[in-house]
Amino acid sequence: MMDLYYKSTRNSDLKVTASEAILTGLAPNGGLFVPEQVPKLDVTLNELKGMSYQETAYCVMKQFLTDFTEEELKGCIQKAYDSKFDTEEIVSLVKVDNTYYLELFHGATIAFKDMALSILPHLLTTSARKNKVSNEIIILTATSGDTGKAALAGFADVKGTRIIVFYPKNGVSRVQELQMVTQKGNNVDVVAIHGNFDNAQSGVKAMFEDKELGRELADKGYQFSSANSINIGRLVPQVVYYVYAYAKLLEHGEIEENELIDIVVPTGNFGNILAAYYAKLMGIPIGKLICASNENKVLFDFFQTGVYDKNRDFVLTTSPSMDILISSNLERLIYLIAGEDSNRTRLLMEELKNGGRYEISEDMKAKLKDFSGGYASEAETAEEISKVYGKTGYVLDTHTAVASHVCRKTCEDGRKCVIASTASPYKFVKSVMTAIDKSNENKDEFALFETMSEVSKTQMPQAIKDILGADIIHKKECDADKMKETVKSILG
Ligand SMILES: *Cc1c(COP(=O)(O)O)cnc(C)c1O
Repeated sequence: MMDLYYKSTRNSDLKVTASEAILTGLAPNGGLFVPEQVPKLDVTLNELKGMSYQETAYCVMKQFLTDFTEEELKGCIQKAYDSKFDTEEIVSLVKVDNTYYLELFHGATIAFKDMALSILPHLLTTSARKNKVSNEIIILTATSGDTGKAALAGFADVKGTRIIVFYPKNGVSRVQELQMVTQKGNNVDVVAIHGNFDNAQSGVKAMFEDKELGRELADKGYQFSSANSINIGRLVPQVVYYVYAYAKLLEHGEIEENELIDIVVPTGNFGNILAAYYAKLMGIPIGKLICASNENKVLFDFFQTGVYDKNRDFVLTTSPSMDILISSNLERLIYLIAGEDSNRTRLLMEELKNGGRYEISEDMKAKLKDFSGGYASEAETAEEISKVYGKTGYVLDTHTAVASHVCRKTCEDGRKCVIASTASPYKFVKSVMTAIDKSNENKDEFALFETMSEVSKTQMPQAIKDILGADIIHKKECDADKMKETVKSILG
């Protein structure tokens, strides 16, 4: 098989292997690594039909990570997708009222981030070994709530790594915060910043680009990497479940071979929907990719007008993991529609950094026809939860509800639609239970877990049991402009 290399979206001279891209996370000049071309699957849809999740993962990931041996990659997959998940299938495809919900929340921290972050530590330590890296790897992570816990759980006590997570102090759900601040492990730190997710993400990106800081750390035997979806080691494992979902629909006779399906993704940093696009480029018959936003609808406006403009109020919503105004992974799509022109991409990203806004050209806009956007207001999100529950008994989390609402409004008539279901409703218990019954609004959050279990006829997940009564270990806080100092003090 041909080796696949990775380029930077902002510098055409750079070319690295998959394992090097995973190790560094972000390219040296702030660009993101992208495959030279998105590889095609080398199996037919029919062959995919009977495969387990792990087998599908190998089929997809080996096309992207060509410098991993079969033994290395299969080892990573085996260690990642095991009994940490509460279903043997790893993900479930549930048909509700003629729509398919792809439940991606059966991992250890009950959000879809587990799909990639269960395997990233293994990909990263394998990459370090392959490249003879002896430095300790410091994982810097900004989180809008779910990445943080999933990354902490994945990297806790992993030899040769340390992880520091930054989350917005008042920008995550109570369950999300408790999950993070109770995390055990002697290589983990959690810091609440006084700011929003965009501040946290910009702070982390700035540290990656800080050459002086990089040298200082190297002297101490450290190097940075990222667990955010800017790391292709996050993105590649996310392609797998879209391939798997298509194969399951086929296996269950829900679709004909080669029938087009639409995918709706509740979107924040644009990682999950980009993975769906990569699945399409690999050869999966996907029609439209529908990007669903909450009231922070920067992406909806972008798909409508071709103007990306983050100069607007940041809204705190009941779907906090999508409260993002700078969607990092959009850069990878911009690069593709700019004809893989790294200069053009770099200039647009500089405009975004300096003025908070850029506009794409007509020829670029024309290449976005596979995508469309939609959004749900706070009221529409709550109404969707209540409506679906009332009609079917199925309980959606707030993020999935945003996508479900958008699906109703925008899916093509007659086409089967798969909605990425990104979190368990237990994680956002207060908002979800209030949407179902207004009288829950003033009830204690912890009391609502039992009610949720009764109402949804599902068992309380282990992740919830784990936070009940757990000790709070992490209490660090810092201002958004003091993240670098905080990292230095943590690392001594
Ligand atoms: C992270 C997250 C999202 C957004 O995913 P992106 O890949 O950042 O677009 C949506 N829903 C939930 C529950 C999440 O945790």
